[in-house]
Amino acid sequence: MNATPEKIIPGVVAELNPLVRRLTAPNPGVMTGPGTNTYIVGEQDLAVIDPGPVIESHLQGLIGAVGDRLRWIVCTHTHLDHSPAAMALKHATGAQVVGMPTADDGRQDTTFAPDRVLGEHDTVDLGSCVLRAVHTPGHVANHLCYLLENQQLLFTGDHIMQGSTVVITPPGGDMSDYLASLAKLLRMDIAELAPGHGHVITRPHDEIRRLITHRLKREQKVLDAFAKKNPATLDELLPLAYDDVPAKIHHVARRSLHAHLIKLLHDELVSEHAGYWALESTSTQ
Ligand SMILES: [Zn+2]
Repeated sequence: MNATPEKIIPGVVAELNPLVRRLTAPNPGVMTGPGTNTYIVGEQDLAVIDPGPVIESHLQGLIGAVGDRLRWIVCTHTHLDHSPAAMALKHATGAQVVGMPTADDGRQDTTFAPDRVLGEHDTVDLGSCVLRAVHTPGHVANHLCYLLENQQLLFTGDHIMQGSTVVITPPGGDMSDYLASLAKLLRMDIAELAPGHGHVITRPHDEIRRLITHRLKREQKVLDAFAKKNPATLDELLPLAYDDVPAKIHHVARRSLHAHLIKLLHDELVSEHAGYWALESTSTQ
C-alpha cells in the first residue's frame, strides 16, 4: 500500500482505505510483532476481523470505532492473541461471532463459540462488500483467511505475517498443510495482504513465493543437518538446522523444526524411533 508505511501504534485507528481500518492491540512481543491487528471492515454494516486478546483499552477502542454498526465478529483462528475478545465484544454490541472451531491442543481459546461456523467459500455479507472465507490450514487446522472481494484484499491472520516468520506448532500446526495453503493462495487473484501482525503487504504473489522458498530452504537445512548427526534427537538437530537463527529464539524454532520433521516423515525422507530421527537411506541430499 505504501513503500514506507507509517509506524504501527497500538490503540490508534489507522484508515487503510475507505472500507478498511486497523486497530492494533497493545500486545507487542516476539510472537506478535507490534501487536495483533484488528481490522474493521465495511461502510454501514461493519465486521471486525480478529478482535484480539481481552485487553480493556483495546475493547473500548473497538467499541468506540464501530459505534452501533457492528454486525459480525470474524475470527481467522482461535489462538489466544486473536479471538478471546470475541465474546466480550459480542456482549457489548450484539454482533454475531463467526469462524471455525478446532480441537484444543492446549494453545486454543476455549471460550470461542461461533454463532455461525464458516468453511471454504462461505461469505459474510456487509451490504456494500463481501468477505469470503478461504480455508488455509497449516499454522493451525482451523485457519481461515478472508478475501474482501471488491478489493481483492486478503486478510491473512497468522497464515502470513509481515516482519516475522509464522510458527508452525504440531499437532495443531502442520507444515505440509501450510505449504499447500500457500500454494493455494498463489492461484488466487489477490491484490494485497493484510496480516494479523505487521503492515499491509503489496506484491502478494512475490511474497508468497518467497515464503515457500524460505520453508523449502529450511527443510533442506534440516536434511543437511543429518550429515552431521544421524540419527539425532530434535534438540540435537535444532542448533544444526537453525544455526542462522539467534539461540534466544531456538525454543520457538524448535516447534517449527518438529513440524518440518513430521512433514519429512510423511514424505518418507526420514524415520523416527524412540525420539531419534534418522535420514532414510534412500534419501538424497
Ligand atoms: Zn496464531
